[in-house]
Amino acid sequence: MEKRQRLLLATNNPGKVREFRRLLARSGFEVVTPADLGITIEPEETGTTYGENAALKAQAFADAGRCLALADDSGIEVDALGGRPGMYSARFGGPGLDDAARTALLISELHGVPDPKRTARYRAVVALAWPAGREPMLFEGVQEGTIGHEPRGGQGFGYDPVFLVDGVRAQAEISDDEKDLISHRGKAVRAAAEWLASHCP
Ligand code: IMP
Repeated sequence: MEKRQRLLLATNNPGKVREFRRLLARSGFEVVTPADLGITIEPEETGTTYGENAALKAQAFADAGRCLALADDSGIEVDALGGRPGMYSARFGGPGLDDAARTALLISELHGVPDPKRTARYRAVVALAWPAGREPMLFEGVQEGTIGHEPRGGQGFGYDPVFLVDGVRAQAEISDDEKDLISHRGKAVRAAAEWLASHCP
């Protein structure tokens, strides 16, 4: 049997790992996590753009695992907050907060903001990196939505309980399949997988 090429997911975030695994299930790659390879690095996100951070994470894991690696850097951009928290979504409110506390903080910062002004978007930049030589490749995906008034639903992760996909349903209330179809990460990963299929068959 032909050996499948290995693709290392360059993240320790369990929510992202679940989504990447679903999105890459039919890619033909042997998808592995850092834990599968005994890799424990946590590269510092010192970039000033999503693309720089995604590329530096993917490159660090590609070097550590000596194989193709895929990372994303993502965030939620809230228009009424001037695009915050954006790249800093994982650290919104400082260290020590969990997803529920960050979501509560976001809702409190939007106190009094009327529905038409609660527009927001998720953005993800996916990077592919190789252990030696070539520059990382970048792919972007965006999902538009609005911010609700209270958390709802048990699916997804992060800000999904307050991110309304159609003005009514929270991203945490829709199925995994529907999220993958419309999400920022789904769009970016599909673009990366298509590129791989046509350039590294
Ligand atoms: P980073 O890419 O590791 O810097 O983290 C991005 C952060 O943005 C996550 O920790 C979440 O807080 C948020 N985020 C990104 N994508 C999603 C998503 O699909 N659902 C909910 N929150 C997300």
